[in-house]
Amino acid sequence: MADVKKVIAIIDRIADDIEDQKMFLTELDNVIGDGDHGINMARGFKVVKELEPTFEGKDIGAILKMVGMKIVSTVGGSAGPLYGTAFMKAGALMNGKMEADIHDFIGMLEAGIGGVQLRGKAVKGEKTMLDSMIPALDAIKEAVEAGSDAKAALDAGVKAAEDGVEYTKTIIATKGRASYLGERSLGHQDPGATSFTIMLKDIAAMA
Ligand code: ADP
Ligand code: MG
Repeated sequence: MADVKKVIAIIDRIADDIEDQKMFLTELDNVIGDGDHGINMARGFKVVKELEPTFEGKDIGAILKMVGMKIVSTVGGSAGPLYGTAFMKAGALMNGKMEADIHDFIGMLEAGIGGVQLRGKAVKGEKTMLDSMIPALDAIKEAVEAGSDAKAALDAGVKAAEDGVEYTKTIIATKGRASYLGERSLGHQDPGATSFTIMLKDIAAMA
């Protein structure tokens, strides 16, 4: 169970890790895109971090919506609107709630994926962030249904997201900038699938 304080701590840790992984994410994007994914994400999460003092007294829904709006307005590129929408959709689900359990998280991830698909019109297997998001959601759901606790379920989600990142190396990009490369995108992992995995790892580590 995560209360508001925990949710803010997770957002803070994500912001720090995105900053730490900025060059790595940007190098990945350099190979199959335009080399800005890490820089874009770090710029956005730096502003999100500055927003943290204003989270006081707010519910999880309001906080996630604020994060989403900031991401849309500061990250830019494709990832900004996509991740921003994901956070806003997750927030809409958590309106008025001061605590989130694993079932809420499943709902948030589901809503977030829905938001990404609404905006980006991609499906699984197109070498995007969805290739780590969707397998992670499926693995978390499956683990919960099999009786795992939240921590074990999130760990299973991280493993599935990591496998998803590996899988992106084996497929050709058909959405986003990497799709311009066609077959030359083979052999390289997707930056967005990688950044999602970083975020999910932080959530799992703090659960
Ligand atoms: P840009 O491609 O505009 O430079 P970024 O470099 O910030 O944006 O983000 C690239 C990432 O965005 C890709 O690695 C991919 O995961 C994700 N992405 C791009 N297009 C889509 C889409 N239509 N649906 C889902 N994810 C996408
Ligand atoms: Mg890019």
